[in-house]
Amino acid sequence: MVLSASPSELPDFAEVVVIGAGFAGASTAAALARGGQMRGVLLEREPVPGTYASGRNAAIVRHVETESILRTLVRESVRLISARLLEDGPALRPTGGLYLTHDAQPDRPAEWVADLCTNGVTCELLSAAEARRRFPFLSGLHFTFAVFSAGDGVLDIHGLLTSLLAEARRGGIPSLMNCPVEAVLLDAGRVRGVRTPRGELRTDLVVDATGAWAGRLGREGAPLPLQPLRRHLFVAESPLPADAPIVWDLDAGYYFRPEGDGLLLSPCDETPHPPAPPAADFAAAELLAEKLAANAPTLAGVAIRRHWPCLRTFAPDRLPVIGWDPEVAGLFHVAGLGGFGAACSLAIGEAAANLIRGRQPGWIDTAEFSPARAALGHTVLQPRS
Ligand SMILES: Cc1cc2nc3c(=O)[nH]c(=O)nc-3n(C[C@H](O)[C@H](O)[C@H](O)COP(=O)(O)OP(=O)(O)OC[C@H]3O[C@@H](n4cnc5c(N)ncnc54)[C@H](O)[C@@H]3O)c2cc1C
Repeated sequence: MVLSASPSELPDFAEVVVIGAGFAGASTAAALARGGQMRGVLLEREPVPGTYASGRNAAIVRHVETESILRTLVRESVRLISARLLEDGPALRPTGGLYLTHDAQPDRPAEWVADLCTNGVTCELLSAAEARRRFPFLSGLHFTFAVFSAGDGVLDIHGLLTSLLAEARRGGIPSLMNCPVEAVLLDAGRVRGVRTPRGELRTDLVVDATGAWAGRLGREGAPLPLQPLRRHLFVAESPLPADAPIVWDLDAGYYFRPEGDGLLLSPCDETPHPPAPPAADFAAAELLAEKLAANAPTLAGVAIRRHWPCLRTFAPDRLPVIGWDPEVAGLFHVAGLGGFGAACSLAIGEAAANLIRGRQPGWIDTAEFSPARAALGHTVLQPRS
């Protein structure tokens, strides 16, 4: 059988097999297929794309990442996302982002803002009084300084994921749902195919983009040290204007932003979890209530409408893992996308596709993302306190 445009069955052979229909897999497949350069298939275990982190995240794009290499990824990704028009409008809705601190003196936030500005992030430092004057809803929140990043915003994550998968399909990498990859088949340390319940598929190139499950296929004896951490999101009644910016208290560790006519909030909880669908833990609701009571009393009583947990997956140094496997020829990783995989998705796909084609993307040093880097020794990732 040859590879059809929209397969209902597994083909016999593919130039590339991408595993996982989240942002990692979709953006890599789209970038590989762009211009019809590489043909293959994307295999997803679940019936619909984005069943896990990619469809259940906070959709925040923030330029104020602490690591400068992540800021570069965000900047490039925003450039690419902004050039993309989805069926329902732009993929990124600019809202601005406010990052609150509790410093007694402005030295630390001022240094941070200077560093961000040097790195091309448009942002400004506001005293609490200035911030409250510009954004009156902040009057009920405790903080001392705020960094305002005008270019931050909220993504249409479902629209963006769908458009990436459609682009991949048009370019020759269609998706096949309900098709779990049980094993990457190896021959003398080289990829020779994948095994699924629908049969085997021959290929020389596999992209492991399996999110919380990543780093195991083809490496069963020595999985990459990736750690999923569970985080909860809540949607509540909103006392805020619908055009309020994203608010993230970096010292207290909570964030919120308007979501339709409601408010999306997170207590920024991090609990190590095995790669499996997580159950909700009531302790996260208690943590959110405590943090709001102490730092945002005007929000402490908001009625929760719904909530869900999901997994963010990290390498020990919290940088992405994008590159060739150091031991298995033909196995490429796009993993460890932590809490930035939606925002950075387009840049990650571009970087991955370049490396797969044997080119270095000119705008970023991908050595820091290498699966062979020292930080991916056998360190155990600790949750942030
Ligand atoms: C609560 C929360 C809030 C977040 N907020 C933000 C945010 O505001 N901004 C931001 O940029 N990022 C955010 N993130 C992070 C972002 O969601 C992730 O970085 C990103 O979605 C990871 O994408 P992925 O494709 O690597 O993983 P996933 O979305 O998990 O996709 C992996 C896919 O692989 C499939 N799969 C696994 N194993 C197999 C197999 N053997 N065979 C076939 N398919 C398989 C899975 O079913 C899944 O569909 C958040 C994450 C969470 C959990």
